[in-house]
Amino acid sequence: MDNTPLQNDQKRDTSDPTYAGSGPLAMLTNYEQTREMATLSQIGIVKRKIRKGIYVLEPTPCFCGDEGGMEILTSERYGLPHRMVICEQCALIRANPRMDAKSTKAFYNTEYRLINKNLASREAPLRDRWDDIALYWVLEVRSGESLLKAYLEQGHPFPKTVIDFGCHFGGTMEPFREAGSQCYGVEYDQKAKEVAEGKEFDVSNTLDDLINRGVKADLIIMQDIIEHLTDLRGDLQKINMLLAEGGVIHVWTPGLFGPTRQVSNLFQLAHNFQFCGHTLDYVMNSMGFEPFFLDEVISSFWRRKEGRELAMVPLKPTEWVEYSLDQLSNKMQRKLPLFKSICKFTRRERYDYIKENCKNHIPDLQEITEKYHGSLIVVGGGPSVDTELPTMQKLHAEGMPVIAISRMYPFCIKNGLGPDFVASMDSSVEQEEGFKNINPDTIHLMCSVTRPSLFKNLPKGKAYLWDNMDEEHVRKIRREAGYTVATVVAGGGSIAVSALSLGMNLGFSDFHVFGVDCLFSSKDYSHSKGIAGESVDNIIEDVTIDGIIYLSTAPFVMFAKHMLDMVWAGYTAGLLRQIKFYGECLINKMWSGKFLTPEEMEIIEKEENHG
Ligand SMILES: [Zn+2]
Repeated sequence: MDNTPLQNDQKRDTSDPTYAGSGPLAMLTNYEQTREMATLSQIGIVKRKIRKGIYVLEPTPCFCGDEGGMEILTSERYGLPHRMVICEQCALIRANPRMDAKSTKAFYNTEYRLINKNLASREAPLRDRWDDIALYWVLEVRSGESLLKAYLEQGHPFPKTVIDFGCHFGGTMEPFREAGSQCYGVEYDQKAKEVAEGKEFDVSNTLDDLINRGVKADLIIMQDIIEHLTDLRGDLQKINMLLAEGGVIHVWTPGLFGPTRQVSNLFQLAHNFQFCGHTLDYVMNSMGFEPFFLDEVISSFWRRKEGRELAMVPLKPTEWVEYSLDQLSNKMQRKLPLFKSICKFTRRERYDYIKENCKNHIPDLQEITEKYHGSLIVVGGGPSVDTELPTMQKLHAEGMPVIAISRMYPFCIKNGLGPDFVASMDSSVEQEEGFKNINPDTIHLMCSVTRPSLFKNLPKGKAYLWDNMDEEHVRKIRREAGYTVATVVAGGGSIAVSALSLGMNLGFSDFHVFGVDCLFSSKDYSHSKGIAGESVDNIIEDVTIDGIIYLSTAPFVMFAKHMLDMVWAGYTAGLLRQIKFYGECLINKMWSGKFLTPEEMEIIEKEENHG
C-alpha cells in the first residue's frame, strides 16, 4: 500500500502516451484501449488549455471568508494541476486557485466526461456507446430507488415536487416520477440534458430558470454536485428559494472519512471542495439548514432551521483541521475525532413508537421533576459492576437510591439493588429480556421511543414518559395525545448518559456511577456478566492517553466524551455537585475528577484567547 497518497499523482506524468493507468495497454481490449487513449489525449488537451489561459484559474477565499489555507495537494489523480488547500479556520478543503465559472462549464461540456470514466459514480458515465448510456440509466434509477426508500424512512410525506440539481440522464428522478412526483432536473452538460429530455424530463440549464418559473420543491436532490459548485453560497441561497415550506434537501458527496478515503481517488479537477461531515454541517448550518441525517460517507438529509436555532451562528469546526490532516496523510496513530452517531432506527419507526406509547397516557416526567435530592447510584452495563457489587450494595444499604439502565434491571433485582428507578430508551427487541420481571416498587422512566411492548406490564403510577428528540414533530404527536407538557432529556443517544441526565432532572446532585468502563481488560470481557441481551459488535482499538495504551472502541471513547460533556453541563448549570466513577473506567483516565475553580477557568480562557 502506498502510504504517501498526497504525492501519489505527482510522480507520474499521465500525458505520457505510454502510460495506461495501472496496467500495460496490451492487457486491454481494443475498445478499452480506444477509451484509454481518448482519456490521455483529453488530459493533454486540458493541460494545454490551462497553460494557455483558455481555462482561466482564479484565486478563491474560503466559504468562511478566510483568504489563506494550508496546501495539501498540487495535482489531482490524472496529473492535472489542481491545488487544494485546507482552511485553518473552518477545516473546509477547497481548490485555490480553481477554474472560473465559464471555464468550468466549458470543461464539463468537453473533456470532463471522457476523463472521469469511473462507472461507480454518476458524475462519470461514458457515452460513446449506446449501451453505456443504457447501463448508466439503470444505475441512476437504482440510486433513485434507494433514495426514495431512505427519504420515506425519515418519516416524511411523499414529495409532490422534486428537483434534481445535476440530474444527468434523469434516472434518479425516474422512481419519483413513477410514484407520482412532479420532477424538474437541472443539468449543465448539454448532452446529458438531451438524454434526460429524450426520457421526457423537464430539464433546465440553471437553478435560476426554475426560480423564474416559481417552482417550489418538497425534495431537492443534490447528488455528486455540491463538491463541484463554483458559487457554493450563491447556489445554496438559490436552493433555499426553491425549497417548499417543510421541504427536504438530500446531499450526497464523497466524504473525506468515507470508504473511498484513499486520497488519490478523491481529488479531481472538477471538485472545488472536499467535505467531511462537520465541514458540510458548518456550511449548511451557515446557510440556514440543519441535518436530520448525516454520516461520513457523506449521505445526508437537511431541513430549514426553525425558531431559536435559526438565530444561532454555527461554530467553525477548527479541530477538524488536525483530524483531516491525519486522514490525508493516512496517519496510523491519531487523535480520535468526535464522530456523529446515527440511530439504528429510522425516524419513521421512532415516530410510530412515540405515537403508540403516547396511547398509554402515562404521566410526563415533569410530575416528579425535582422531587428528589441528595445522592444517587447510577448503574451502567460495564464489566466492573461485577467486581464493584459489594460497594454498590453497601451504598444502597446506607439508603442511597439506584437508577439502572434498562439492560441492568434484572441484575439490580437479583442483587438486591432495587432499583428505585430504571431508565429505558432503546427500541430493540432485546430490551424485552430486561423487562421480563418487573419490580412493583421501581419507578420506570420511559423514553417515548422505547419499544412499545415494554409498556405492557408496567405497574400503575410507577411510570413516567420523557422524550429524547427536541423536535416540533414529536411535540405535535404529544399534543395530539393530550399532553400539555413534554420533557426532553438530553443524552446524546446513550442510555447511561441519559440516566445521569434523568438523575439531575429528578433533583439528585451527587452521583456514584458504576459500570461505565468504556475500556476492556481483555478482548472478550466487554460487558457485565449479568447484562440482559446482546451487545453491539465492537472493533477494539488501542487508545493512548498520557502515553498509556488502553483497549477501547471508537463508540466507547465517544460515549466517554459525551458523559464528560454532560457532567460539565450539569456542573455549570448548578444541577450537579459531585460525581464519582467507580471501577476501571476510561473517564477516570481522561479526567482527574476535579472541577476547575472559577479562577482556574479564567486563566485557561485567557491562555486560549492569546493562543
Ligand atoms: Zn474556512
